[in-house]
Amino acid sequence: MSSHDVDLFVIGAGSGGVRGARIAASLGARVAVAEERFLGGTCVNVGCIPKKLFSYGAHARDDIEDARAYGWDVAEPTLDWPRLITNKDREIARLNGVYQRLLEGRGVAVMLGRATLEDAHTVAVTAPDGTVTRRTAEHILVATGGSPVRPSFPGAELAMVSDEVFYLPKRPDRLLVIGGGYIAVEMAGIFQGYGAQVTLAYRGALFLRGFDRDVRTHLDAEMRHRGIDLRFRTEVASLTRRPDGAIDAVLTTGETLVVDAVLAAIGRAPNARGLGLEAAGVELDERGAVRVDGRFRTSARSIYAVGDVIDRVQLTPVALAEAMIVAHNLFGGAKRTPDYEFIPSAVFSTPPVGTVGLTEDEARAEALARGGAVDIYRSTFTPLKHTLTGRREKTLMKLVVERDTDRVVGVHVVGPDAGEIVQGFAVALKLGATKAQLDGTIGIHPTAAEELVTMRERCPDPDHSVSVDHLAQGAAPHRGIVQHRWEDSEA
Ligand code: NDP
Repeated sequence: MSSHDVDLFVIGAGSGGVRGARIAASLGARVAVAEERFLGGTCVNVGCIPKKLFSYGAHARDDIEDARAYGWDVAEPTLDWPRLITNKDREIARLNGVYQRLLEGRGVAVMLGRATLEDAHTVAVTAPDGTVTRRTAEHILVATGGSPVRPSFPGAELAMVSDEVFYLPKRPDRLLVIGGGYIAVEMAGIFQGYGAQVTLAYRGALFLRGFDRDVRTHLDAEMRHRGIDLRFRTEVASLTRRPDGAIDAVLTTGETLVVDAVLAAIGRAPNARGLGLEAAGVELDERGAVRVDGRFRTSARSIYAVGDVIDRVQLTPVALAEAMIVAHNLFGGAKRTPDYEFIPSAVFSTPPVGTVGLTEDEARAEALARGGAVDIYRSTFTPLKHTLTGRREKTLMKLVVERDTDRVVGVHVVGPDAGEIVQGFAVALKLGATKAQLDGTIGIHPTAAEELVTMRERCPDPDHSVSVDHLAQGAAPHRGIVQHRWEDSEA
């Protein structure tokens, strides 16, 4: 046992920090964790969990409408937005308590306040009442996450970011969403589902850069069909408050939109400043993220960092996996390294997207480099449920297959339960599944997912040259670690 107060001091009780603290404590380490805002971090409080709850609520309106085709007489639904916020807040408070008990149950000391590093082994925690407590630690894990980037055009202070969207006292009737990534696309669908008139302004030619282009075009058509006003190659030049409280949003196209609220979802930046990292000898990279080696050790030997603060892959399950590696390596005698191959992810858009592995363009570029080729299998169909409802909503399923090895290197789905479907296929891809093995798997009938094991007809080879525009722009492939299940016990 070291002469320090604790063996591991964790800064930040978000997904990565809580997991790292718990695993380290379960391996016998003396652990303390400091958190300045809320237990559970972004994911539990202002990210994945409230977003998914909002997403369920947004889809409920469709379910109520669809019920009529199935024999139910239902009244026109009306919305009590404050009830949604109250119920959501109650659930998040319950989860905060679950996290606290999980940590304390393992003997982890939870310190509420802002932690800063005084040197490579000393952390000072300033509590909300100003009291400062110092702890020395053999090892320190920085898991401080990231924060939404705020725009800088004139009037940008009138725009909210994702942290605020979950506490809106009232559903805006007219919402402008800026951005074309996960958050923008998800929130556009959620607020449209809740009855708002939604416009999404994205600076590029087509949103969800880095995703498969069929996914992007399919979702584009589906969202437009639902009445979401998608404006591409469009930026916001300025925002001005009107006397009636609404906001004038001047677009770079010259048009002015009158809206009730603006959500800027233009990316997230690492929370690495003001922590005393430099004083402790921790280097940051050019994007302001903590620089780590292959086992998450920073340039200071006693300090490690995981999750959004290292800005590799901004996904909760990745932060969890990274934190477990650090804890097992430090206290379990392991020598693990991360595996970022085949990271599945879902965009909880309307309809949702599930994706794992390479996009068609990425696979073609890789194949081209080694003189190989790629086969594409694609299917677009109306989900069985909508044969009665008449809802014009199409599902897209797509397989990307390396021709010479027959390995399935990409699975892309747009449609109900896309994330649930792709999670299972992620395991198959991780195990190196071939197209022949998918073909040899019996489908479950009638499901949408059976389509992925019954696609027999290859799409004709494209006669155009490979489009790798998004690769040139630096898009990250979505490959890798098997997804985490959201259960209380899994914090
Ligand atoms: P993303 O990085 O996904 O997308 C940012 C978007 O904002 C891009 O469309 C980008 O355009 C655009 N953008 C960037 N800078 C500007 C600017 N100055 N002006 C206008 N537009 C700009 O970020 P998000 O904020 O959507 O989400 C952050 C991260 O959180 C995601 O990357 C994801 O890793 C994670 N997340 C995951 C979710 C999930 O798993 N379901 C859900 C929500 C978030 P361009 O494409 O041209 O660069």
